[in-house]
Amino acid sequence: MSQTHDIPGFQEIFDAQGQSLGAILGPEVWAEVREDIFARFAVPQAEPEKPEPLDDWHFLVQHWDFKYPVDLDVACPLCGNESADWEHDEPRKFRLTAANMGGLVSFRCLSCQARIIKRHFFDEVTADAVPYAPEKSLRNKGRAS
Ligand SMILES: [Zn+2]
Repeated sequence: MSQTHDIPGFQEIFDAQGQSLGAILGPEVWAEVREDIFARFAVPQAEPEKPEPLDDWHFLVQHWDFKYPVDLDVACPLCGNESADWEHDEPRKFRLTAANMGGLVSFRCLSCQARIIKRHFFDEVTADAVPYAPEKSLRNKGRAS
């Protein structure tokens, strides 16, 4: 048969008709090729989720100079998810994704994954919801890499 049979710790296996069923790797051989196998065949992992920028949010709260009190409510018009105090829901209903000193605060709805963007103006708050679009972002990622 083939030379591969001479490699210690490596054994190809065949069914009764001689069709390959794959191979068994011993620990030494596996340790040698493991990284290569993962590098070649592993499905790319989704990027780990960034931690919530709670410091940014707290900084905004500490320097709050809008005409109204700090607003803690978030609502998702797309799926009806809502919270009166997003930071202290148990379990959480919304995840903070961005906050800046300009008053832009965005969240991800943990129910439907939509993006909720709250814009704080001097005397009013506006909110927009952007539906989650997984296919588009995956395709874009594929093209980029
Ligand atoms: Zn939602």
